[in-house]
Amino acid sequence: MRRPIIAGNWKLNKTIPEAIDLVARLKRSLYDVTDTDIVVCPSFTAIAEVAETLSESTIAVGGQDLYWEASGAFTGEVSGAQLKDAGCSYVIIGHSERRQFFGETDATVNKKIKAALAAGLTPIVCVGELLQERESGKTEEVIRVQVQGSLANLTEDEMSGIVIAYEPVWAIGTGKVATPQQAQDVHKFIRGLLEKMFGKAVASQVRIQYGGSVKPSNVKELMAAPDIDGALVGGASLDADQFIQLVKYK
Ligand code: PEP
Repeated sequence: MRRPIIAGNWKLNKTIPEAIDLVARLKRSLYDVTDTDIVVCPSFTAIAEVAETLSESTIAVGGQDLYWEASGAFTGEVSGAQLKDAGCSYVIIGHSERRQFFGETDATVNKKIKAALAAGLTPIVCVGELLQERESGKTEEVIRVQVQGSLANLTEDEMSGIVIAYEPVWAIGTGKVATPQQAQDVHKFIRGLLEKMFGKAVASQVRIQYGGSVKPSNVKELMAAPDIDGALVGGASLDADQFIQLVKYK
């Protein structure tokens, strides 16, 4: 049985006081949720204060990106150890916005996964197809290349500590959610790829989140699909009431 994991990706939003206010509300309302992993991923600037506010709660904190080097002359970058130091236990890697706007490739995603694992962080690795790729029947091919490239040369042990997020790019921030069947088909396909790469035991244990316009109104039917183990939530994670309802989807 895979434990559900619901994570909020705040993207480039919220000042430190706004971030503290949001997580203080989450902490008050979600203290009794013990059967789901809950993660919030603020901007770098708010991570330490958010982690401090969430101490003695079950809500974990994640970064939205990291760099693969541990230290050095890499202006503007943040390492896995620094994220850990600030209070993170997760990090999102290879989000489609990083791929689209910041030149992220499967090769850089792979390096970042290794750096995150070395720092003791749980990577949330994003994959997903563009609208034109889906419409031209290339979804599986795109996902196969991303999964195989991003997860290349990892051990079974390393893979079992990774979360995958399937996020069809056409569904992110657009209000167009994939149907549970569309999402389930790709999740099942990803699990099949993981089985070929890492064996059945690892594949059956890896959690695969769906992301793309997840809302309180659609989370339950998505979570009912057999291979959907959680949600990576953008817009709806910025609002305490919506995120609370999402986490309490049962
Ligand atoms: C995301 O950015 O990971 C995401 C899924 O965004 P939204 O929920 O707003 O579509």
